[in-house]
Amino acid sequence: MNGLERQRYNRNILLPEIGTAGQETLLASRVLVVGAGGLGSPLLLYLAAAGVGHLGIIDDDLVSLSNLQRQILHATEDLDRPKVTSALETLSSLNPGIHVTPYNERLTEQNVHPLAHQYDLVVVACDNFETRTIVNAACMHQKKPMLTAAVSGFSGQIYTFKPYLGSACYRCIYPNLPTSNLVPPLASNAFEDGILGSVAGVLGSWLSTEVVKELLNIGESLAGQILILDVLRNNFRKLHIPRDPVCSFCRKSQTD
Ligand SMILES: [Zn+2]
Repeated sequence: MNGLERQRYNRNILLPEIGTAGQETLLASRVLVVGAGGLGSPLLLYLAAAGVGHLGIIDDDLVSLSNLQRQILHATEDLDRPKVTSALETLSSLNPGIHVTPYNERLTEQNVHPLAHQYDLVVVACDNFETRTIVNAACMHQKKPMLTAAVSGFSGQIYTFKPYLGSACYRCIYPNLPTSNLVPPLASNAFEDGILGSVAGVLGSWLSTEVVKELLNIGESLAGQILILDVLRNNFRKLHIPRDPVCSFCRKSQTD
């Protein structure tokens, strides 16, 4: 780290859990974020500000007017531009010392493996069952953490999956989801529901904190648990999620 970096990350370095060594680790870390929307915006802003050295962003969407109520990476002048382009500019302006790689495409079963291979950890920041299923399989195979959050209205959940260490995988919780390009049976994608922007902000910020914890291996991992937040009623709770002993997905990966 040079002198400017020491100044920029001073408040991180002052934390005994991070320190100079932890900041060096963050600067050397590579995180792939799927989705530059309501969850991805606060997540990416905080990861960039914290000095996570290489961020990959995959999203094939354009910025639309109804996004701006919560997707704070993007501004009014970004309307109709690719979200990854707008995200790249915002994040580079916030922190020119990190590398941001935009992928203006949709994550698929085909491109997920070579993409995930380049990163230490993958965050699914779009509320989409099919994407989580695709990333779950790739991260299980590559033994990398997958973090994700779901948000709707005033509530949401945060998950960390590290099934290669023995905790539940995403399919242990949702075993009956389609694996191909079918419409998921549970139609609860966030873009169809009402949502308060700041609630996506809470979830995305919390998710970014869990990412930093995983990268630095500090604190208690959320793996094997769900953190459930109900902001309207001020309820926060953690639920243990047991591994499904007959889950064909993590059982298969253990025999690879
Ligand atoms: Zn499983």
